[in-house]
Amino acid sequence: MKAAGMKTDKSDILTLLRNSADYVSGQQLCDQFGVSRTAVWKVINQLKEEGYQIESVPRKGYRLVESPADILSKSEIASRLHTKWAGRKLYYVDSTGSTNTDAKRYAEEGEPHGTTVVADMQTAGKGRRGRKWESPSGINAYFTILLKPSFAPDKASMLTLVMALAVAEAIEEVTALPVGIKWPNDIVINKKKVVGMLTEMSTTPEMDEIQYVVVGVGINVNMGSAEEFPEEIRQTATSLKLESGRQINRAVLIEHILTRFEHNYERFEQTLDLSGLMDAYQRRLVNVGAQVRVLDPAGEYVGISRGINQTGELIVEREDGSVSNVYAGEVSVRGIYGYV
Ligand code: ATP
Repeated sequence: MKAAGMKTDKSDILTLLRNSADYVSGQQLCDQFGVSRTAVWKVINQLKEEGYQIESVPRKGYRLVESPADILSKSEIASRLHTKWAGRKLYYVDSTGSTNTDAKRYAEEGEPHGTTVVADMQTAGKGRRGRKWESPSGINAYFTILLKPSFAPDKASMLTLVMALAVAEAIEEVTALPVGIKWPNDIVINKKKVVGMLTEMSTTPEMDEIQYVVVGVGINVNMGSAEEFPEEIRQTATSLKLESGRQINRAVLIEHILTRFEHNYERFEQTLDLSGLMDAYQRRLVNVGAQVRVLDPAGEYVGISRGINQTGELIVEREDGSVSNVYAGEVSVRGIYGYV
């Protein structure tokens, strides 16, 4: 029996219910988790309050009949997750400044590779170069995964592309929508942005080793009308619900992303370049063969995008015939007439 006052893990109970085709007896739950009948009963009631339909039949036990259509919670994600390391250590908060900032703090505190922080809203969601990521509550997904790789810091920028591919694949799996990637890491549907990412790294003072990398992802999931976006991004932003016409379960989406990411990351680790993922990435890359505007802080220029190379740089053929390999770090790319 667990010590008095110790919390029964809701995630464990939900996982067991989800994975059982038949009824799970109260006694089995007590024995398995070393808690009292009352503790089990309390957890079941909490789950019911969150919208889970759980049938309880005397002498048979409990059975999960239906989960809420959309819920973002630690137990909902954990009870669905089958990864080895991605998201195995999971934090969920209703509201935070930025999940990247939280993940960096966990990294400093010694949390392991794969630790994931999920939030329902961010009060200071971040984009690249000090930009802002709009992060309203109750409808979207914001999460950051902490990585502790042993490879050299110059490989880290490719992780953004590894994640972009994972997010694109997961969205396709969950929504069946056609998904594009705008290099390096925006996810676009119908030429509008649904996902933004921010990768941040900390190295040793000599800058020869990675201490940790955090990859943050913000997804517009269930925003139901364009008016919910602030004026300045209304033309360029969209959500999965707006595009698919249906509500998406955010926990299911995150579970799919973590699964795809773990797979893609392990593939990346084998060669430390994108050779194993390039075809899949390239197939989704928008603007290939089209004119693009490269917003390089050192000077803007126009050229034809020819796709990525094995290290994830965008190959751009300039108007004067020269070829530039654009490094992801500080550069944005736009379509010649608009965002894509
Ligand atoms: P790009 O490559 O398009 O310049 P970026 O990678 O440099 O994008 P990000 O850091 O991904 O930029 O995202 C920040 C930008 O995205 C903001 O400046 C704003 O224009 C836009 N934005 C902010 N919040 C959202 C949102 N919820 N949905 C879609 N777009 C958003």
